[in-house]
Amino acid sequence: TKWVYTFGDGAAEGRAGDRNLLGGKGANLAEMCSLGLPVPPGFTITTEACNWFYANGRTYPPSLEADVLAALDHIGALTGRRFGDPEKLLLVSVRSGARASMPGMMDTVLNLGLNDETVEALATDSGDARFAYDSYRRFIQMYSNVVLDLDHEVFEEILEEEKARLGYELDTELSAIEWQGVIAHYKATIEEELGEPFPQDPREQLWGAIGAVFSSWMNHRAITYRRLHDIPESWGTAVNVQAMVFGNMGETSATGVAFTRNPSTGEKMLYGEFLVNAQGEDVVAGIRTPQSITEKARIDSGSDKPSLQKVMPEAFASFVEISERLEKHYRDMQDLEFTIERGKLWMLQTRSGKRTAKAALRMAVDMAAEGLIGKEEAVARIDPASLDQLLHPTIDPKAERNVIAIGLPASPGAATGEIVFSSHDAEEAKALGKKVILVRIETSPEDIHGMHAAEGILTTRGGMTSHAAVVARGMGKPCVSGAGSLRVDYRAGTLMVMGETFRKGDIVTIDGGNGQVLKGPVAMLQPELSGDFAAIMEWADATRRMKVRTNAETPADARMARSFGAEGIGLCRTEHMFFEGDRIIAMREMILADTEKDRRAALAKLLPMQRSDFLELFEIMAGLPVTIRLLDPPLHEFLPKTEEEIAEVASVMNVSAEKLRQRTETLHEFNPMLGHRGCRLAVSYPEIAEMQARAIFEAAVEAGRKTGNPVVPEIMVPLVGLKTELDFVKASIDAVAKSVMDETGVTVEYLTGTMIELPRAAIRAHVIAEAAEFFSFGTNDLTQTTFGISRDDAASFLDIYRQKGIVEQDPFVSLDIDGVGELVRMAAEKGRATRPDIKLGICGEHGGDPASIHFCEEVGLDYVSCSPYRVPIARLAAAQAAV
Ligand code: PEP
Ligand code: MG
Repeated sequence: TKWVYTFGDGAAEGRAGDRNLLGGKGANLAEMCSLGLPVPPGFTITTEACNWFYANGRTYPPSLEADVLAALDHIGALTGRRFGDPEKLLLVSVRSGARASMPGMMDTVLNLGLNDETVEALATDSGDARFAYDSYRRFIQMYSNVVLDLDHEVFEEILEEEKARLGYELDTELSAIEWQGVIAHYKATIEEELGEPFPQDPREQLWGAIGAVFSSWMNHRAITYRRLHDIPESWGTAVNVQAMVFGNMGETSATGVAFTRNPSTGEKMLYGEFLVNAQGEDVVAGIRTPQSITEKARIDSGSDKPSLQKVMPEAFASFVEISERLEKHYRDMQDLEFTIERGKLWMLQTRSGKRTAKAALRMAVDMAAEGLIGKEEAVARIDPASLDQLLHPTIDPKAERNVIAIGLPASPGAATGEIVFSSHDAEEAKALGKKVILVRIETSPEDIHGMHAAEGILTTRGGMTSHAAVVARGMGKPCVSGAGSLRVDYRAGTLMVMGETFRKGDIVTIDGGNGQVLKGPVAMLQPELSGDFAAIMEWADATRRMKVRTNAETPADARMARSFGAEGIGLCRTEHMFFEGDRIIAMREMILADTEKDRRAALAKLLPMQRSDFLELFEIMAGLPVTIRLLDPPLHEFLPKTEEEIAEVASVMNVSAEKLRQRTETLHEFNPMLGHRGCRLAVSYPEIAEMQARAIFEAAVEAGRKTGNPVVPEIMVPLVGLKTELDFVKASIDAVAKSVMDETGVTVEYLTGTMIELPRAAIRAHVIAEAAEFFSFGTNDLTQTTFGISRDDAASFLDIYRQKGIVEQDPFVSLDIDGVGELVRMAAEKGRATRPDIKLGICGEHGGDPASIHFCEEVGLDYVSCSPYRVPIARLAAAQAAV
């Protein structure tokens, strides 16, 4: 096995494509070398050597030592030097480099090879004793910290004391002799701490550093980082060893970092910082203020410190040329590190730079215009989930965050406002022009008006598909749900957390993008749907196969979704249309009625409301498909709970509170999510489905007349498990359709279909498809029923499951492809076997999740449907899935 790959002087054994073997840094160093760029010669020990190291009790492959020595000779030959030889001093840097950049691992040891003897050689060589001793003390500090595991602060303290004693402010004021004093002090301290002197043998130093890089793969921080970013342990890290070049050799030397484009705005301009007479860690440490690279950036920032362009024009010119070349070569924005040693430029790193969502859009569009990449690639470059950042106000990344609790990131965007604990208070405060955050233990349909009035919603209970989460996403309001560490006491009107008590009127901020709850107001950035956004969306639309619809039932949501590019409604949850105002009263009358006659009376009140709702939706959707689902109310969301509510409903219904209480008790269900929901309601009370069907057909006739666009409603029956259920409900839909057509003389085309949201429905899909013209996968319920986990309170333990690695993802957020997905795949196949042209869609929350959308493309669904604010994400994800 080849464990070591060399590079230098225009040639390299590896290349950019060898990332898995050489790590990101090593592969790009090799590539830069092959391009003929000035890279200090060196070699990379492969990630396979790291894996061997762990597979063999932390030992090295037998041939590695000889390979490393040969590679050191290679560097020596190219530089005319020899490692460990004071006559021809060769010093090296040692850096880690995994496939993906990984903060948390050992980073860098510079100046390796220095000892009491070679430091004098360096002084003679460079003609600068101060530089030599400064380099040596830096080496001791870095090596002790990352290899010998001694605290950085021990050394900082010694240095600070020494400076105080000498009356200096800056490190640069110390002379060679004074640095020697510091070094002696350092070495004595190390010996005291470790019982051994600081290693003087350069080879011992080198193997120490190599071992530290490999070992850092398994340190605590690296393991945590890998878990958070789904990086497999089996990747391992490479080690990069390179001849040292010095940015601290006086006023003609420097070190810096740069991006080829601005990483926060995307603007095409070289963007970076450097320090004269410094080594890499000085730039990061922030002790000295770095200077701008270009004159333009210096002027823009109002700095009076000269730019690199000014102080080292020649090195600057070659850096500009190289950065342009690298960007063209990699066809992406590059993040660069460089050092200038006595006027000569050396490249130390290049990689694709991290960027904000806004910058990513701008760069992708610009690069397509420049001909650097194609449109398809531009679309592929954007992370769909990052679009959330652009559609909602977000917390200014520069703002300070005082986090008091963390819940689930239920609906994106950030909001600040005064705390209110009831929907009533929310509306009242809003009427006074105040901005509020509605804080509830959980929300119910009665809170809809309060949620509307609030800037954001915070609950202490409930998961990603809890009422609050679903409704907030639909409204596009920020929501943090299930923040379990908060204690809400409605009666006392308090919110308690971490020993602090908040009251009505106190200001909090929620960040629905990451689930944080923050104390006080925080600076925000407003969304900006720039031309770049529109361009990428247009290109995405040209690429995708699946249609994107929206889950919407209010005119406002439907319009919003249209403006985001929705191509129809995939799910109109009719029960949500009864949440507001007087409607909930009529709805309750209907639910609570104990005779068919009473129920019909209540339904008669609801019919005109429904009809005008549907009419408005049909008009907004102007001929696009609209899927209306028959009523599917989890009853507990609609039954009156408090005495006040019971009294109110009793008086409207003209019955005694006592009678009503009894009726409510009869209807009480232990598990309403599995209860008298969905088509079960329509089977028990056919008049409900009849009323809804009538409202739909009458609205369709009228919309057709008004707009001249024929409407083809899609009527969807929820929670079907048996074909006979669907047959039963479909019969009454067809009967109503016939009578409306007879009454009006207008023919309305329509489709009847069902949701597939119970395992039995998926298993029997071939039979159900005999009656259903379309399937829409209700993956919220399908996840709930497949796992046997209630969507209402899964949050209480799913987080623990994630932490312990039992599940990788909340299955209510990203589809469980192996389990629930298998049911979807099977039902799609079975449905098509019976009815080849069956229309297939998904309307569970997964319809807006990029990974789940990829799966939907694979299974060949016709469309995905998601909440309005997710429509752009789905458009992009569907395009990426299609290529
Ligand atoms: C579902 O179950 O996935 C669905 C879309 O319906 P609801 O969330 O309204 O139960
Ligand atoms: Mg459902």
